Amino acid sequence: MESLQENSLFRPFAYIDGNWVAADSGEQIEVDDPATGEVVGRMPKLGRAETERAIEAAESAWPAWRALTAQERADTLMKWYDLMLKHQDELAAIMTAEQGKPLKEAAGEIAYAASFLRWFAEEARRVYGDTIPAAKSNQRIVVLKQPVGVVGAITPWNFPSSMITRKAAAALAAGCPIVIKPASQTPFSATALAALAEQAGVPRGVFNVVPGRASEIGKALTESPVVRKITFTGSTEVGSQLMAGAAEHIQKISLELGGNAPFLVFEDADLDAAVEGAMASKFRNAGQTCVCTNRFLVQSSVINAFSEKLAAAMNSELQVGPGTEEGVNIGPLIDDDAVAKVSEHIQDAVDKGAELLLGGHTHPLGGRFFTPTLVSHANADMKVAHEETFGPLAAVIPFDDEEDAVQMANDTRFGLASYFYANDLSRVWRVAEALEYGMVGINTGLISNASAPFGGVKASGLGREGSKYGIDEYMETKYLCMDLG
Ligand code: ADP
Repeated sequence: MESLQENSLFRPFAYIDGNWVAADSGEQIEVDDPATGEVVGRMPKLGRAETERAIEAAESAWPAWRALTAQERADTLMKWYDLMLKHQDELAAIMTAEQGKPLKEAAGEIAYAASFLRWFAEEARRVYGDTIPAAKSNQRIVVLKQPVGVVGAITPWNFPSSMITRKAAAALAAGCPIVIKPASQTPFSATALAALAEQAGVPRGVFNVVPGRASEIGKALTESPVVRKITFTGSTEVGSQLMAGAAEHIQKISLELGGNAPFLVFEDADLDAAVEGAMASKFRNAGQTCVCTNRFLVQSSVINAFSEKLAAAMNSELQVGPGTEEGVNIGPLIDDDAVAKVSEHIQDAVDKGAELLLGGHTHPLGGRFFTPTLVSHANADMKVAHEETFGPLAAVIPFDDEEDAVQMANDTRFGLASYFYANDLSRVWRVAEALEYGMVGINTGLISNASAPFGGVKASGLGREGSKYGIDEYMETKYLCMDLG
């Protein structure tokens, strides 16, 4: 594999106020390749002091950035977009090296990540205000949208590039500068984006990357009265801590947290289409996405047929291996804990009576590779029914009727993505409306798209990213009340 040191976008430094910097302490994070466990690079491990400097830089950069016209900000975002596509292969190589996903999938994520730059470049020019009929004849009411101010963002390792652009593109389009703490497993994807932002002409201080000690950086962001918005993608536990922290200065907050996606298959569904959707929603990123199906809920009358078809598809379509190898579509899991969690969920399901149809163990390649696993006739008492597995385990649980299915699907504290396959039109509406989720895929297993509002309800989060709604998360609504005398 091409070494990262030769990649023109490899930047083993933090990026603050337009400068490439080391940590004050000289400490570094060792980043490894999940496929081999070998160190691919070292990134400075920053803490509070450097984060405070980044916040100051962002504060200083804010007036000039917000004063640009929307068109000018959009032009810069579009240059950044073009550069991302121009460097798609290099960005994908960095991502695969530190995250493990297959190169083709990494290239797909780069295109998806870039799509947020284009989307919000377009949206920047459509931030409309409002005029409202007044209560008195001599009064006029006008509503303005204004950028909220400095944004603090914390992002995860499973989508090292797109979780950054989904936040940064919206923030920058709105006129806000941003300080980003990327996940420690995948910081090089973040600094590669900073290198391109610099080339695109994003002014210094507007886009800052501070890798390092997570809770210290998180606290520096929430304890700063200058930071007016916190946006986070990650675990519900950390999201809850950040929300408590944001309470101190009443910071605006968006959270995209864990899920436990159900995938319902009704007897009137097209089973082949359902299996195709199941493969797409379950095995992307080796099952490590917050919208990956966690539970297949299948009507009893078709459970055996569905499970057999799914087993056949898994057998013929999934190839486990290093992400750099041609034909591989299931890379390694991110770390040893991830492997342990998938093993634990399988063991728990089998101990409680589930039928093991495929896999069930780590992959012969060893390390963090895991054999795609299918268990059928699982039930609601199993861990897989309540906890996010985040790995290549497909668990099939039977249900009797529609009411049963909806009740089971909603029996979780999470509410991010859900999916169902059915053809009866009235059922489609009933189930779509009854599912307590922020997103519902109907006869599809792929729902993510820059133009659609991504987000969850209940313990899965607050706010929406992408779409025309996404930019609002970075704006304040100001109302002008004019008395004409
Ligand atoms: P995951 O299970 O995806 O690693 P985390 O919530 O632990 O989920 O991580 C998501 C992001 O949150 C990462 O950038 C991580 O470094 C960061 N993080 C972890 N703990 C904290 C914390 N206490 N405060 C702020 N950020 C944190």
